[in-house]
Amino acid sequence: MTKKDNGHNQPTTRLAQPLGQLPAVGPRVAPLLNKLGLHTALDLLFFFPRDYEDCSELCAIGDLDDAATEHRQVSVSGTIDEVELRSLSNGRSVLGAVVRDDSSALRIVWFNQPFMMNRLVRGSRVLVSGKPRLSGLRWEMTHPTVRTLRDDETPSAGEIRPVYHLTEGLRQTQIRQIVRSVVESLAGELEEVLPASYRADRQLWGLSDALRAIHHPEDADQLTAARRRFVYQELLVLQLALAIRRWNLQHQRHAPALPATAKIDARIRRLFPFELTADQRQATNEIAQDMGCQLPMNRLLEGEVGSGKTVVAEYAMLLAVAHGYQAALMAPTEVLARQHLRVLSEDLRQSRVRIDLLTGAMPASRRRHLLAQLATGEIDLLIGTQALLHERVEFHRLGLVVIDEQHKFGVRQRASLRQAGLDPHYLIMTATPIPRTVTMALFGDLDVSVLRQTPPGRQAVHTYIASDDQREQWWQFFTRKLREGRQGYVVAPHVDDDREDQPLGVEQLFEQLVNGPLEAFRVDMLHGRMSTSEKEAIMNAYRSGRTHVLVATSVIEVGIDVPNATLMTIEGGERFGLAQLHQLRGRIRRGSFPGYLTVFAHPANEAARQRLEAFAGTLDGFELAEVDFQMRGPGDLLGTVQHGLPPFRIADLQRDAKLLQEARQDAQQLVADADAPFFQPEFASLKQRVFRRYGRVLDLADVA
Ligand code: ADP
Ligand code: MG
Repeated sequence: MTKKDNGHNQPTTRLAQPLGQLPAVGPRVAPLLNKLGLHTALDLLFFFPRDYEDCSELCAIGDLDDAATEHRQVSVSGTIDEVELRSLSNGRSVLGAVVRDDSSALRIVWFNQPFMMNRLVRGSRVLVSGKPRLSGLRWEMTHPTVRTLRDDETPSAGEIRPVYHLTEGLRQTQIRQIVRSVVESLAGELEEVLPASYRADRQLWGLSDALRAIHHPEDADQLTAARRRFVYQELLVLQLALAIRRWNLQHQRHAPALPATAKIDARIRRLFPFELTADQRQATNEIAQDMGCQLPMNRLLEGEVGSGKTVVAEYAMLLAVAHGYQAALMAPTEVLARQHLRVLSEDLRQSRVRIDLLTGAMPASRRRHLLAQLATGEIDLLIGTQALLHERVEFHRLGLVVIDEQHKFGVRQRASLRQAGLDPHYLIMTATPIPRTVTMALFGDLDVSVLRQTPPGRQAVHTYIASDDQREQWWQFFTRKLREGRQGYVVAPHVDDDREDQPLGVEQLFEQLVNGPLEAFRVDMLHGRMSTSEKEAIMNAYRSGRTHVLVATSVIEVGIDVPNATLMTIEGGERFGLAQLHQLRGRIRRGSFPGYLTVFAHPANEAARQRLEAFAGTLDGFELAEVDFQMRGPGDLLGTVQHGLPPFRIADLQRDAKLLQEARQDAQQLVADADAPFFQPEFASLKQRVFRRYGRVLDLADVA
């Protein structure tokens, strides 16, 4: 495990001490802390609580009345009594228990979390926190946090206690003690990162005070102030990194100027089999503007699924070729790379543009030949997978790099495809609509073009969320449409069903369908464990209409384009994220027939059900992205990691949207020009933070 990078510079020797040497830790506990990624005293200081046990509202169950009317979070302590787990017919469960204290009793309830039962030992004393609700005559809390109290432990009212991540063998009380002692003895040794006057202007707490308060807040206000300081700093550091990256690109890099003259523009557009939509037109104009300058283009093309990003990329690539430069297009999967090759070759069959494909699976001799042609400029357009990033891949004159489905790569690989001399222009495409806040936070260094419209004639997809008793009816409809000549997909969340509580896997589903409702049709299977040639053969058969139905995992999620496919069944719908469902739906919204999608799902809770309903309620991916963001934050789908940045330690883009605005504005001012404050000595320590955390991922060459 690599050493964690902490919010600090040049630790004093005491801060750099290995944990085993700290009296509060000792050699037995140190390895457990190491497992949590903690190696030094400094790491412990910045090991922020994952949550708090808020006993500032600790009360007797009999006194719950007042607090509850305000829907506040409260805590009670008591003894567990009457634990009961009921299984319902459809695989759901209700777990209930009663907690008693001297004054009264409280019922605590979990839906579909049978494993929580292990925590509820009859007769044990617990501290329970949650929002109480009067249910009939009894107080009830749904999904509270529960902690078992030691015999000698009495929670005291008024205290807010940190809750840390644990690892096996480490107890909460233990880590609390350890962190407390380290904070008490060492928090004062930290060097401040933000100058005092800068903090004063923004009412930000000093580092040491904020550290003490984030671990041991005296009240909710302290916690808010401490958190604000760290969130601000974290967001500021990222925004500075993005601002510097942008600055670098504009001041230190040069790309060839590749303007779109009227003649070139007409020549390129003649190759397309259709008219561009207004959105596509605008995007190509923006791109042509960028590429006409010697500043390297650094543009994100965000487009709804099926909005026609490929042709926009094609335009940009042909613009490079028109000026005698090469262009590269990188796709996340081989299936998709081949699809691009096919589409582009079709459009270019009357032209002299030379196009080829590079993938990881190529025979060595073929590969060598191709690389030689690439280096001498005999290939104009190179399409490929991540194999393009290999160091041996050398271009003769690379003018443009297009990265398709950026979110699938997980890293910001823009930097890697560079060459000696001039830099290429970059166009990055993503089909996951991104909420505005996230775009701003994570792509602040890029210009953005958006395709909102879908090409003309595109039909709606009727989306249904269904339960198991509607299966028969659905398959009747599905097969009727197949007989009318349409094709369909059946999507399962995984390849095989190795666990009982999971929905069927692709293989089992396939068996069931070919021996059941789809018996009269030609059905194939497609999943990630197959070899490339198998997958390619299956895709070809499907594309040509020889097979009617593909039973697949979400490998079909990305980019596959078969206009005649208009039917889709998704199994285990609760296991897919909203963006992923939307991507899948995009597969059946490609031609001139309306699409029909049924999602079979067993949502585990109300929020999951609402998400599915939102999905069925709109076809607008941008709207869905906002819904998803509101409902569960950017974590899973739109998190930093997916976009190739290290995860946030404390910031939460949804909760902290306002601070993000502030940090972004501040960052832009701080690096506005070469004399800007950021380059003065008082910010040296902040600057170091920025480079340590983002220097490598965002390829920030040192500035001044
Ligand atoms: P995505 O944005 O998801 O990558 P594609 O580029 O694959 O979408 O385009 C989806 C489909 O729409 C393709 O079949 C493409 O040929 C078609 N298409 C794109 N632009 C237009 C247009 N302006 N008019 C008609 N069809 C178009
Ligand atoms: Mg695409």
